[in-house]
Amino acid sequence: MESDTLDRVGYMQNEVGWNLCPTNHVLAMDLRSLCESITPRGRDRITWNNHSGPVTLSIIWDSMRPRSVAPSWINLVWHKLAVPKFSINLWLILRHRLLTRDRMARFGFNVNPICLFCNNMETHEHLFFNCFYISQILKECPVIITSSWQEILNGNLVNPSLDKMRRDFASLFVATTFYFVWAERNARCHENGPPKLASQLLRDIKLRIREKLSSSILFQQRIKKDMGLQLLLF
Ligand SMILES: [Zn+2]
Repeated sequence: MESDTLDRVGYMQNEVGWNLCPTNHVLAMDLRSLCESITPRGRDRITWNNHSGPVTLSIIWDSMRPRSVAPSWINLVWHKLAVPKFSINLWLILRHRLLTRDRMARFGFNVNPICLFCNNMETHEHLFFNCFYISQILKECPVIITSSWQEILNGNLVNPSLDKMRRDFASLFVATTFYFVWAERNARCHENGPPKLASQLLRDIKLRIREKLSSSILFQQRIKKDMGLQLLLF
């Protein structure tokens, strides 16, 4: 047909209809007879499973899998201020999937199950909520967060009447804290450098959060309308 593999259907058309070369190759003759029954009109359109309207990858993906109900804590993990590596760590914690010492002992590893910050058993709930080390940091969150681990697991981190930006900020604060505490715990476990006090870690956490907020266009837009948001930066 004297066409290139990258040619579009439009190259085979002119103002009046099909513009196919008059070769006598049997495949070309078949194609010509097929095309004669098709009247070219308008642009090509992608269709999928009789879906009306434009087809997107998400529509195709959703049609190929069963959708389950989102967990109640989903808005703690994914929101407008989320930092992916902090969110993924938070996601693992909410599912109790980090390799804490209680889990390692359950798996048969010969480990001391005691918390590296105090003398209690290292569990997810202890390390990320009850331990005096993290509690010194969490109480510094500028937005009041729940005093119940179970409420965090239920996705009820803060008062639901708070505006979305402050709710997202609280989620960012907790996710960042969990990430830094887990990193500090691992550093102590593997004796990487001198241990950091909670106050030192809090400084690192605040610095990282300020970096995120100052690079967030959405936060910068909101702060112009709500000056109280500036308090979250300090
Ligand atoms: Zn502890």
